[in-house]
Amino acid sequence: MKLRKSASVAVLATLALALTACGGESGNAGDKPSGGDGGAAAAKLPSYAVATDVKIDSATLKRAQKAGKLVIGAKNDQPYLGFEDTTGKRSGFDIEIAKMVAADLGFKPEQIEFKTVDSNVRETTISKGEVDLYVGTYTINDERKKQVGFAGPYFLAGADLLVRKGDKDISGADSLKGKTVCSIKGSTPLQEIKKPKYGAKTVELSKYSECVQQLLNNEVDAVTTDDAILKGYAAQRPAKLEVVGKPFTKEPYGVGMNKDDKALRTAVDDALEKHEKNGDYKKAYDATLGLSGSPYTAPPAIERY
Ligand code: GLU
Repeated sequence: MKLRKSASVAVLATLALALTACGGESGNAGDKPSGGDGGAAAAKLPSYAVATDVKIDSATLKRAQKAGKLVIGAKNDQPYLGFEDTTGKRSGFDIEIAKMVAADLGFKPEQIEFKTVDSNVRETTISKGEVDLYVGTYTINDERKKQVGFAGPYFLAGADLLVRKGDKDISGADSLKGKTVCSIKGSTPLQEIKKPKYGAKTVELSKYSECVQQLLNNEVDAVTTDDAILKGYAAQRPAKLEVVGKPFTKEPYGVGMNKDDKALRTAVDDALEKHEKNGDYKKAYDATLGLSGSPYTAPPAIERY
């Protein structure tokens, strides 16, 4: 009987994830449709004026101009941030940031080639030149600055916890003793949660959607990463998942690129600043990440270095 019950829970959870993978529109019983796929909100997205005759002394940009396309690394399983539906359409706040920046560098949306790059291979993919830019919930920190360059920050997130709805055992980072927490390799929240002070056991996977699946399957007790990411998963399945506690780290998001391409870094900083000032940033936020329940707040000041 017990076995039967857990088997059916697993089947339901798999079904739920399969439905979400279809763009998140279907949802599952008791959950509201996500809107995180850019569906209803897509009409409210701004379009960005594409610069012409861009001349910047950047090796990356010159190569991209020659190729006629800009290759941008992104996530594909983060609703409202960086999501790819079954038709290959990308949506989310990070995708909009990528489009704004690309426009200022002279590239139309159709000249962007998005490549899915998960957290554990970001630095190597960028330094090998396999992507020109990277926009994917990428925290700026000194360790990473040894390998890549960062424009921004364009958003401030903080690590938090996603649990099964109604789980009274976990109320925040100080209630994780003996609990099993899932996060992904190469991410800053995983590094944080491994600190002995939390007393948590960790499961380390490659994608956050796999962690969410394990949470729905009762295989782990919580998922940790940035609140912005977790709120997206919770908004997709409000009947099953919730974000608890208070953010326990600071995660300022930057646009990653080749470490030595200072001219490109300056150009991307300029672009971020311009789109924040002209209102595109807020419009894009409201039509994407804002839908997962975090009201708009002004981004942190650009930190040029
Ligand atoms: N912002 C954190 C990081 O860059 C977590 C999110 C992610 O893995 O992309 O590590």
